Amino acid sequence: MIVLSERIKRWYEGKGEEMARTLARLISVPALSPDYGGDGELEKAEVLTGILEDMGLPRPRRYDAPDGRAKGGVRPNLVVELPGSDPALAILTHLDVVPPGDLSAWETDPFKPVIREGRLFGRGSEDNGQGLVASLFAAKAAAELGADRRIILYFVSDEERGSGYGLRFLLKEHPEIFPGDAHYLVPDAGNRRGDLVEVAEKGVLWFRVRVRGRQVHASVPHKGVNALRILARVLDSVDRELHSRFPERDELFRPPTSTFEPTVSSSSSDAPNIVPGEAEAIFDCRLLPGLGGEEVLEAAREAARGLLPEGASLEVEEVNYIPAAPKTPPDSPVVVSLLRALRELRGIEGRVAGIGGSTFASFLRAEGMHAVVWSTIDEMAHQPNEYCVIENLVADSMVMAHMAMQS
Ligand SMILES: [Zn+2]
Repeated sequence: MIVLSERIKRWYEGKGEEMARTLARLISVPALSPDYGGDGELEKAEVLTGILEDMGLPRPRRYDAPDGRAKGGVRPNLVVELPGSDPALAILTHLDVVPPGDLSAWETDPFKPVIREGRLFGRGSEDNGQGLVASLFAAKAAAELGADRRIILYFVSDEERGSGYGLRFLLKEHPEIFPGDAHYLVPDAGNRRGDLVEVAEKGVLWFRVRVRGRQVHASVPHKGVNALRILARVLDSVDRELHSRFPERDELFRPPTSTFEPTVSSSSSDAPNIVPGEAEAIFDCRLLPGLGGEEVLEAAREAARGLLPEGASLEVEEVNYIPAAPKTPPDSPVVVSLLRALRELRGIEGRVAGIGGSTFASFLRAEGMHAVVWSTIDEMAHQPNEYCVIENLVADSMVMAHMAMQS
């Protein structure tokens, strides 16, 4: 009897070139959100539909989110399903890409894919083309090798601009297409070794602290109220208060605590001899699951109270907030399955961890689904000269096939 990992490795022998060609076909179609001035994802969805047909995979179901700004008036979302037994393996990737940015920083045309030394260059090659093409071939491998597990592939729009026309639209308008017990894999972040198995994300809160005083010439400060001095005291107090009020730790994360960092600051003064009448600063906070943004804002307001002299006022307001979703339990079946595939195929032990950022897996987790974020990447997302390592494309696809084949 041949072990599973050997059967999978054999199926993939010599497949690298075909996989790279498939990825190149997709990269040649820019799929930019109208928020970036693009036409949307329709054309790429049509090319993908052709690829599915060529590969002998089932026809996709389409769930279009209406968007009058995009080509065809829609932002397409595609779902391909291979029937089989539950729990399903569900792999989620996104069609859209970010703009190339400064073109002079690119050595090749971002939308004319080029292969050099085992790397495929082009915008969207790693983010999220690698995961997308890996999922296509994993489904095909599993079907040809006789997997009996149900496999669902989701190809969604609008990940780069908040998922309002993509995953969030689907979860709201078509919740029935997401089985509650499926094993969700989101190959849209990771590391070079491919051993980072992400099961949790911190929430992200940005808030602004704004102080108003009274502007005056710096030679007669007693006639004004210096907003910058007050802001400095307020920042110090808020900083200390947040750290001492919320010391909780979760060892899944590095660092294991919530973080509260003052980042941007400015004042209304543009000359050394002007005492500013206004000053503000922004905090970037990464909140462990369980800590809510409102609690943090309230603590910040309390810390600032009592520091205001007469004639000064203060506001603490939210700028942006993505709550932390509940984490996927580290012993959830999808985690166990991925760890097993990594061990049996590559001989590596995955590290189950949380991250400080936020991916679209959090929308699934917020609905109670168990999702892991994982891939083997050089972390080229959003950079000039973005590339995908073809070896990683093949290796990650094998891991997906393994997860689909496990009994
Ligand atoms: Zn991405």
